[in-house]
Amino acid sequence: MEIVQGIHRIPCIFDGNRVMFVHLLVGTKKIMLVDTCLAHNPEQEIFPYMQQLGIQPCQINYVLISHSDSDHVGGNRIVKDHAPNSMFMCHKLDRPWVEDVTALLEGRYKQFDRPHGMSTPDSFVHQLYHDVKTCPMDMTLEGGEQIWLSEDWYVDVLHTPGHTWGHLSVYDPRSHALIAGEAALWNAILDKDWQPCMAPTYCYADTYLATIQRLLAMSIDVYSPSHWPLQMGKEVHDFLYESRNYCLRVEEELLNLSQRTESFTMLQAIDEICGLLGTWSPVANNAMAYPINANIARLVQRGQLEQSHNDQGHFIWRRA
Ligand SMILES: [Zn+2]
Repeated sequence: MEIVQGIHRIPCIFDGNRVMFVHLLVGTKKIMLVDTCLAHNPEQEIFPYMQQLGIQPCQINYVLISHSDSDHVGGNRIVKDHAPNSMFMCHKLDRPWVEDVTALLEGRYKQFDRPHGMSTPDSFVHQLYHDVKTCPMDMTLEGGEQIWLSEDWYVDVLHTPGHTWGHLSVYDPRSHALIAGEAALWNAILDKDWQPCMAPTYCYADTYLATIQRLLAMSIDVYSPSHWPLQMGKEVHDFLYESRNYCLRVEEELLNLSQRTESFTMLQAIDEICGLLGTWSPVANNAMAYPINANIARLVQRGQLEQSHNDQGHFIWRRA
């Protein structure tokens, strides 16, 4: 659907029940795609949608990747093959994981395995290599760039870190619409039926809260996130406040946990926090490691938790 003049929000389905919205910005001079979802999604949803508008894939001028997660970069190679002259862009800090699926797997998805005694299933790894087809970036961004799509229309690139270091959002000053990506993650990531399917996977709590604060101070009338319904008017603030408050609730529950136990591991924290704040199916509980890790880092930095290792060499924390 066209959410504001020139900006189309296209649902892409993956993993059976998941949805990710890519955005197509159509100006009179340039056409830009924001994100490519997974390898099957360009041909399944993105190109057919463009066809309806009378646009061929080879007419895409820019592809802006919001951040380094499989469901945002996986279709890159397919789009590049259909639009060989398009310019691919992402934030400088996310480029290593955007371009290389093994780096993404080791650096992001397996980051908790060794330090916390968790394990990434082989089936996940196999699926990842099947779903993600990368291509090199042509240009890296840092936020603050303006991309001109028509003679009289440009959009602003915003650096909105927290979910990743180099997360980007795109703001349209003409319509006050924000293509938000996962700048704010509400109290859960939702599936295609808007049911909670996993934890809000922010990774850097201070940075995440600062991003939300920045967005709260902006004039945003239409907020289009990757895995949530379109937010309009007053809903925009509610969405951002709920994202912020969830992060603070996780922190509060970690402090409570440190009061009632001698020490705790990541797996114990996941169990405890998901029991209190998890609205998704327990099979997805391990993704809670991302927000817990983010909040623990902040509490350790503030001197409220002490970090050490147990006999198995896994991290443990106790009240300082
Ligand atoms: Zn995503």
